[in-house]
Amino acid sequence: MNISTVSELLKLDKTLIDVEVKGWVRTFRANRFIALNDGSTINNIQCVVDFENTNENLLKRITTGAAVYIKGTLVESQGKGQKVELQVNTIEILGDADPEEVSKTILQPKRHTLEFLREQAHLRTRTNTFSAVMRLRSSLSFAIHEYFNKNGFYNMHAPIITGSDAEGAGEMFRVSTLDPKNPPLSEDGEIDYTQDFFGKETNLTVSGQLEAETYAMSLGKVYTFGPTFRAENSNTSRHLAEFWMIEPEVAFMDLDGNMDLAEDFLKYVLKYILESNKEDLAFLEQRLIQEDKTKPQIERSTMTLTEKLRFVIDNNFKRVSYTEAIDILRNSKPNKKKKFKYLINEWGADLQSEHERFLVEKHFKCPVILFDYPANIKAFYMRLNEDEKTVRAMDILFPGIGEIVGGSQREERLEVLKEKMAALDIPEEELWWYLDIRKYGTAVHSGFGLGFERLVMFATGMSNIRDVIPYPRTPQNAEF
Ligand code: ATP
Ligand code: MN
Repeated sequence: MNISTVSELLKLDKTLIDVEVKGWVRTFRANRFIALNDGSTINNIQCVVDFENTNENLLKRITTGAAVYIKGTLVESQGKGQKVELQVNTIEILGDADPEEVSKTILQPKRHTLEFLREQAHLRTRTNTFSAVMRLRSSLSFAIHEYFNKNGFYNMHAPIITGSDAEGAGEMFRVSTLDPKNPPLSEDGEIDYTQDFFGKETNLTVSGQLEAETYAMSLGKVYTFGPTFRAENSNTSRHLAEFWMIEPEVAFMDLDGNMDLAEDFLKYVLKYILESNKEDLAFLEQRLIQEDKTKPQIERSTMTLTEKLRFVIDNNFKRVSYTEAIDILRNSKPNKKKKFKYLINEWGADLQSEHERFLVEKHFKCPVILFDYPANIKAFYMRLNEDEKTVRAMDILFPGIGEIVGGSQREERLEVLKEKMAALDIPEEELWWYLDIRKYGTAVHSGFGLGFERLVMFATGMSNIRDVIPYPRTPQNAEF
């Protein structure tokens, strides 16, 4: 006979059939009722033990956390809360869990703080919250690949170790095999990287974009979905040192096409989870409603989790130029009443998440795409507009989190790009291969970057980025 998953069993509408299941005991109540979970669903299956006919030693080993193998009969449930339950015929303990030990862990079935759960990241997917979050993370990842695949994109694996540190997206982690205690030195006393593994300084990538551009200019439509690393020394709830990024890049596509792509893509993946992860979302929604009750009125969210997802799926994203946005912000109530932490006084100011959230949640009441930013607050590769002050950049702003996507049309004109690099002291030798693309059949092209964990945060309602990635890497923390 086949081993079924709990998810399969709960969906069966046949009863009085013999089934087998393996899983972990969540709770064992009244020497009779096992709540069994195997990760296949947020729901447990109730397994009813005939304790009068079960060996007492065996009963004692049915404890929270233990792995068990149950053979039994699926029957209609007498209790409420579930349609079916499993009448246990035989139970085998595959792995014991000592109650004394379990009592020190997050396996103990009661409310734990997210901080305590983080300390036991290797166990936290045994809890409802984290199993729901990680199933959603997996579904989103699948939906992303599915979207691009359906739309004619190739998946491109950008290198993790890069030889250029000129991208400017963030502080980098060095990759080296030199002996830190005794590195070879050059004549002027500097570390001699020509003797290092790659014969030069190398780092972990902060973005696969530049490499993706070279592939877009031959394969047409590509996307990367890989790990990126930033030595961000700020301990925020939105930044990790290691995170995953999705970066589509498309030849012959301008900024308008880029906005269309990003909007269509985001709606697709969010719609996918609304349909495929109903139970996990329902659980997380309830979790947020409970959490909200402990907060002061003004901090409570005005939308439930599903309402927020619907808000993005059902509304056209409002496209607003940076210049218009600055006017709106300058004349806004919170600016005039000095309620913003960073007041908006003049054109050229960088926007903070308080401003982004004001635009989305208070002013436009729909997702917003800001475009045509001042050149000097954006990256060197973004295409300069005719006004020579702004670049063809776009940021997508979502409720609750602010910026979720950053993208641009890339500067395809060799001379303009070279001038920009010179002005920013970016040596051409570092990026000769990137400049080459502009020499041999250059063309308009565009793309964007989406931080995967920011998307998972939005989709799950989790407020700390450490809680949407299996093993978060942050300053002073790489325990697991
Ligand atoms: P932020 O202003 O939030 O630091 P950024 O401007 O540095 O973001 P980009 O360089 O445009 O971000 O990176 C593209 C996307 O990657 C961002 O929109 C965001 O979703 C995500 N991202 C950036 N830095 C991090 C990080 N340290 N941890 C997790 N996600 C990140
Ligand atoms: Mn940053």
